[in-house]
Amino acid sequence: MRVTTYAYPWDLARIGVERALQEIVSCGIDALDLASTYHPIDTLSPRDGSPRVFTNARGAVYFPARTERYGRIQPSVAAPEICAVWPEVAKHATKLDLEISAWTITLYQPWIVDAHPECARTLPSGDPIGSGVCPASDDFREYFAALCADIVDQFAVSMIRLEGLAAPTYDYGWLRPRVLVEVSPLAGELLAICFCVSCCRRGIDEGLDVEALRQLVNDAIVAEIEDPAGTPERAANLAADAELHAFLVQHERASVELARIAVSRLDAATAPRLSTMVWTPYSQLLDDHTRSDLQDELALAVDQLVGVSVHDAQRLRSSSALSERPVEFGVLLAPLHSPATAAGAERIERGLRGAAELGASEISLYNYGLLREKDVRDLVTAVRAPL
Ligand SMILES: [Zn+2]
Repeated sequence: MRVTTYAYPWDLARIGVERALQEIVSCGIDALDLASTYHPIDTLSPRDGSPRVFTNARGAVYFPARTERYGRIQPSVAAPEICAVWPEVAKHATKLDLEISAWTITLYQPWIVDAHPECARTLPSGDPIGSGVCPASDDFREYFAALCADIVDQFAVSMIRLEGLAAPTYDYGWLRPRVLVEVSPLAGELLAICFCVSCCRRGIDEGLDVEALRQLVNDAIVAEIEDPAGTPERAANLAADAELHAFLVQHERASVELARIAVSRLDAATAPRLSTMVWTPYSQLLDDHTRSDLQDELALAVDQLVGVSVHDAQRLRSSSALSERPVEFGVLLAPLHSPATAAGAERIERGLRGAAELGASEISLYNYGLLREKDVRDLVTAVRAPL
């Protein structure tokens, strides 16, 4: 089993890169998943004396991006002392035989929306969402291709780990949300259908009546808010609507296309492996067959999938579409509570059992700087121990 750990550059900057990497290697960890970009966050690190807080309200780029390589969307680069971690890690990792993955946040980048509101995912009402960009946006795609090439050209990364490639729930990343009506699961799925300029254009280009779709979706949202218990017919009728189905498939494909775009400027012979998480916001609106086909398409675009159920892993392993290019499965082990607590220990045990059932080849610990050194060592021991 290959074991990796997620880590923030700001934690490594404070701890000291060489010291941190030596500790990581001495724990028995094979690779470091180092954030190259990150979303808004408030973290508490227990490392090195009194716990330290890191805050960023709109997300940023955390490696020394070369701005001249980018077009309209210029990277919002973090403080030089944090970005300096990346070259420092690259220098020491080779000596320590530690692989580096570029842990890259994909859509949850509010700083892009601030500078380029037209890139925002947009509700069926036409209201843009402040927390995330749409994977169909041409400007964002251009930026993202440049970003991934910039990382790979500067640093010897063995993997690009794309987080949040698929469109999330409509309210993901909202600051202090105030929603005082019941939003049923179906209403949530409908609200997550993007009607940004790019998605509307793609729909029109495919011959869809996008304004009629907008009306259909908005009417259904109103009906769900009025009657959150809903009716089975309402969900079934929406799922059976051929134009809505085509529009949703376009949305899902936009993320698959983005995975291909991530490596589009790299030399295929030397490109790092690509990993991403499996997720869809449309579990009721898309049927199982369509979701399986879309999962196959995603699997063909990457080398590793994270967050796959045991059922889906079995299906993907036997899928004829993947017979020439089998996909590997990874597992994210995130205690979320201290591993020393009963809740944390239970979550870890569940994660390890899931990884064994899945036949995962890699387990990634979350997250080096947020855990005590003892917790990291205990986690690696648990991963390496036979179940
Ligand atoms: Zn869109």
